[in-house]
Amino acid sequence: MDLLKQRIQSDGLVLNDSLLKVDSFLNHQIDPELMMKIGEEFARRFEGESITKILTIESSGIAISVMAGLVLKVPVVFARKKKSVTVNDNLYSTKVYSFTKNESNDIIVSKQFLQKEDKVLIIDDFLANGEAAAGLANIVKQANATVVGIGIVIEKSFQPGAQKLAQAGYRVESLARIGSFSQGQANFLSDD
Ligand code: 5GP
Repeated sequence: MDLLKQRIQSDGLVLNDSLLKVDSFLNHQIDPELMMKIGEEFARRFEGESITKILTIESSGIAISVMAGLVLKVPVVFARKKKSVTVNDNLYSTKVYSFTKNESNDIIVSKQFLQKEDKVLIIDDFLANGEAAAGLANIVKQANATVVGIGIVIEKSFQPGAQKLAQAGYRVESLARIGSFSQGQANFLSDD
């Protein structure tokens, strides 16, 4: 998605050889027009998949998912992060190790918002080691629902997440795929 890649080049900050900061349009300040275009692109890529629900994780996944939900006309559920949860009949939960925070969180989704008939599109802002997406997929599995695919805004293809998810059989659609960082710039894979 060219518009997104241009925005990463102009406004993204490469913090080190594996971390990109996009606080000015995605992770802190949000650019609604760009979010809408991202939502439309996800809807286009997953057209015809009869998606009934979008599942994301707080907080940065919410804005993009709401836009995609608006286009696809389906509800958006976001997993909440909790320090730890005790076993609870009303919740699906799983552990997710956070790449940026270096800590494990339980993520939870209320059972009332996922049914076994649901065809779920998982959406997140970044894909690094695949922990967050795999955790969300695990929750869909607990609900006996179906993961239709995984939509990612920025994939860091030099980290193992994309390959792990593909090997697990998931269709991953990433709107910008970064092959490496060099001299403070993101180098995108050429076939996006
Ligand atoms: P993963 O679970 O795939 O290892 O990492 C994805 C999650 O970590 C995303 O939900 C995102 O919040 C965060 N993340 C991973 N890499 C980056 C990055 O380079 N920049 C930012 N801002 N967040 C990242």
